[in-house]
Amino acid sequence: MTYMTRREYLRRKRKRRRMIFYLCVLLFVLIVSLLLGILISRLSDHSSPDQTQSSYSLLEDSSSHSSVSPVFADSISEPSSAPSVTVPDGYELLQLSEEEMHKGSLILINKSYEYAFPTDQTLVSMYELSGSAYDVSGTDVQVDQIAAQPLNTMLTSFYEHSGISNLLILCGYRSKEESQELFDASVREDGLEHAERYIMRPGYSEHHSALAVDLGVLLDDGGVDYYSATGDYAWLTQNCHKYGFIVRYPDEKASITQIDYESWHFRYLGIPNATAIYNESLCLEEYMDFIKHYTADGQHYTVSTADGQYEIYYALGTQVPVPAQQSYEISGNNVDGFIVTVKVS
Ligand SMILES: [Zn+2]
Repeated sequence: MTYMTRREYLRRKRKRRRMIFYLCVLLFVLIVSLLLGILISRLSDHSSPDQTQSSYSLLEDSSSHSSVSPVFADSISEPSSAPSVTVPDGYELLQLSEEEMHKGSLILINKSYEYAFPTDQTLVSMYELSGSAYDVSGTDVQVDQIAAQPLNTMLTSFYEHSGISNLLILCGYRSKEESQELFDASVREDGLEHAERYIMRPGYSEHHSALAVDLGVLLDDGGVDYYSATGDYAWLTQNCHKYGFIVRYPDEKASITQIDYESWHFRYLGIPNATAIYNESLCLEEYMDFIKHYTADGQHYTVSTADGQYEIYYALGTQVPVPAQQSYEISGNNVDGFIVTVKVS
C-alpha cells in the first residue's frame, strides 16, 4: 500500500512537471508572438512618415515659390494658428493666400526676391494699343493689363507736351526662357562676372512681371538708343509718377537697388504709390521698409494725386484689415505681407 502510494505520488509528480513544462512552452510561444506583433507594428509605423513626406513634397512642388510653401501648407490645415490681427472699427478682416502675396502692382522683385510666375497673368500687346504718338519695337511687346492703358496714356501725354514722336517701347514682358538666353549669351560674350552685374538672373528680373518697360529713342539714321532724361525728354522722368510709373533704378540709389542707373527702365506701381515714392525720394526697396511704419490700426500714409487723396498702409501676413465702406486696392509685396491703398476723397 505504502509502495503503491509512493508510486502514485511519483506518477503525479511527473505529470505536474510535464504540465509545468507545457505551460512554459505556451508562455514562451505567447511572448514570442507578442514581440513579433510589436515588431511588425513598429515597422508599419516607420513607413507612414515616408508617406507624409511625399505628400508634403508634393505641396512644396506645386508652389512656384518653394521657400514659402510650408507656410502655405500650414495655413490650409491650421487656419486657427495664424497670429491675431487687430481690426479697427469700420474695418473687416480679409483672409488672403500666400500665393496672392506674390501678386499685384507693388511686388518687389530684385536679386533677393524672385518673381513667382502666376499662371493667370493677362498680357496686352502694346503694339496693338499704340497710336501715332510713340512706337513699339515689335508685335511681341506685351505688358500686364493693369499697366497697359496707363503706359499708353503716359507716352501719349509725353508726345502732347513735347511734340516728340520718336519714343519707342523696346521691351516689356520677358519669359524665364528669354531671360536665360540673354544671361547665357552675356556669359558667353563677356564672362560670368559681367553677366551677374548687368543681366538679371532668370526669375529675378522685373520684366517677368510685365509691369516694367525699357524705353528707347528712334534715331534719324534708323538706329535706336536707350531713353535718357536729357533736354525735352526729361519731362517723362519728372512726370511719370502722375501716370503710375517710377524710374526703378535711379542713379543715387544704385547702392541700394544694386543695379547701375537705368534711365530707360520704368516700373508700374499705380499712381498713389508711385507718387508716394516720388514725394519721399525713395527707391522701391526703401519704400517697402518705409511703408511698414503705417498699419491699419496705426497711422496711415497720406498722398494727394490729381485724382484725389489716398491712404496707404501695410499688413504683415495673410490676414489683412480693409475698410468696410471705402474703395481700396490691395497688392502683395512679394516678401511678407500686403499693401492696402484706400481712396479717401
Ligand atoms: Zn529693363
